[in-house]
Amino acid sequence: EGITVRELADMLHVPANKVMEALLKKGILATINQAVPTEVAIEIAESFGFLAEAKKEEEEEVLIEEIPDRPEDLKPRPPIVVVMGHVDHGKTTLLDTIRKTNVAEKEKGGITQHIGASQVKLQDGRVITFLDTPGHEAFTSLRARGAQITDIAVLVVAADDGVMPQTVEAINHAKAFNVPIVVAVNKIDKPGADPMRVRRELSEHGLIPEEWGGDTVFVDVSAKTGQGVDQLLEMIGLVADILELKANPDKRAKGVIIETKLDRKKGPTATVIVQEGTLRVGDIFVAGITNGRVRAMFDDKGRQVKEAKPSTPVEVLGFEELPEAGDTLIVVDSEKKARDLALKLKTKREKEEKLAQGVRLEDIYKKIEAGEIKELRVIVKADTMGSLEALKKSLEDLSTEEVAVRIIHGAVGGITENDVMLAKASGAIIIGFNTRPDPKARELIEKEKVDVRMYGIIYQVIDDVKNALQGLLTPIE
Ligand code: GDP
Repeated sequence: EGITVRELADMLHVPANKVMEALLKKGILATINQAVPTEVAIEIAESFGFLAEAKKEEEEEVLIEEIPDRPEDLKPRPPIVVVMGHVDHGKTTLLDTIRKTNVAEKEKGGITQHIGASQVKLQDGRVITFLDTPGHEAFTSLRARGAQITDIAVLVVAADDGVMPQTVEAINHAKAFNVPIVVAVNKIDKPGADPMRVRRELSEHGLIPEEWGGDTVFVDVSAKTGQGVDQLLEMIGLVADILELKANPDKRAKGVIIETKLDRKKGPTATVIVQEGTLRVGDIFVAGITNGRVRAMFDDKGRQVKEAKPSTPVEVLGFEELPEAGDTLIVVDSEKKARDLALKLKTKREKEEKLAQGVRLEDIYKKIEAGEIKELRVIVKADTMGSLEALKKSLEDLSTEEVAVRIIHGAVGGITENDVMLAKASGAIIIGFNTRPDPKARELIEKEKVDVRMYGIIYQVIDDVKNALQGLLTPIE
């Protein structure tokens, strides 16, 4: 059937006249709306440095058929929780205390294995799964790879320090993915602790305590003495109840890889959090671009287990090669299918890496028109509080009936890796005002192809975004 010159130009992110020129060199005279045969399009794409391949019919089909669940097959599953907050506010201590105080007598003295996540059992028998790596960075980088695993975020704020920059960052990361927040006001044992101040400051960021008529749960705790920790766990349980988290345990397992390790004795191993179905020893699976068969599984207490149900983290042995964190593991019925799927995904990824782009400002209009997006997500980093506030306000004022401009995160300072990850994971663009990316962020921008725009004059920012929303922004070459 072929592809029009315009479509081809769009795909390659080059102006249409460049494509026409290239065609002319091959002796083909085509107008912008004219279709060229697929073989020619591939040659053109390659002349622009792309690896192109005709889309086969089968690619349109989903790689693995999803079997829909009947409501009666869905069973409650434990919540998966991440602990976030500013550095030194007590995230690690809180996780340690939770793990220590909730170990059954017979397990005490046993060595907790670090597998990347752990489960605690409450007095009433309910279970909560915690990701062991605190901070929003881990959560957002998994998210950037498409893995949606966290159900609830616990925001730790030290009562003697109050809301700090990473507190705000954590809030915005959680909000961008609609993950409900439970606030742990920590260090209340300290003489200078002011839990009310934390409530006031968080209210300014939209987290209004229930006792003030809002809908955010606040619990005062001391990670050090353990005071309030049981209540915190109980509240997490309550929030989980409201979310009605469910999964079907009686189907082929599917899970997310959260950590990987190359063990000298065990070979490539990875921690999987099961999302649905039950993972069993002997299961054949595909995991990202690798595959394998479950040789053995260990739980977070280092015990060998035969099966893992939804929301359970297990260390899995039996990968052909190391998968990547964020990859999905899916059980399939034959080794051949596992290999085929792994290979297919590999080809697909390589191609995507060549062709894929993050959300770009100049593509916004097309996406709005196509009904693909309803909001333009923006991260703003500025040199001063004054310019930040001015920018946020003027940008949000550009919202129209068709598309809202939403500032998902704004802060004073340089553009960091976290900003880039958040942009990638949430499909946002980044606007830097009199500020630049740090070296690590620069590398990541290049790799993830996030649209970052640097400005020094406010009206230029406004002009560009306004034009983009109206389809008038021309791509920068
Ligand atoms: P993280 O950077 O958020 O993981 O913070 P840490 O858990 O490493 O804690 C930073 C410091 O605060 C450590 O010295 C902890 O001992 C201390 N700390 C954490 N929680 C509490 C608490 O509830 N009370 C007191 N007094 N100190 C705490």
